[in-house]
Amino acid sequence: MHELSIAQSLVEIACDQAEQAGAKRVTRVSVLVGLLSGVVPDSLSFCFPIVCQGTAAEGAELAIQVDPAKGTCPKCGVSVELNDFVLICPSCGAFPIEVRSGRDLKVTALEVEE
Ligand SMILES: [Zn+2]
Repeated sequence: MHELSIAQSLVEIACDQAEQAGAKRVTRVSVLVGLLSGVVPDSLSFCFPIVCQGTAAEGAELAIQVDPAKGTCPKCGVSVELNDFVLICPSCGAFPIEVRSGRDLKVTALEVEE
């Protein structure tokens, strides 16, 4: 499963950061999931506690925020908020919209315990 390896990298990042900060435990990991990143938030929430087992992030909470994708029409230049994978311009029908954001997955915040 795709989300399992993503969850694994998240836990690695979180544990590395906690170690560098001299913390013993990670209590909360906040991530921003781009709508077009292909990551299913529910699957990620499901996988996270599994990969946390036996690490400094065991029992940590995962807070997922979905980042709506934004794009620009190459023809009429209108700015579009993309709510799904339909990349057709709503004002002139041009295809495809140039995607500017919403393809990434980022760790936005970490909470740790000394
Ligand atoms: Zn357009």
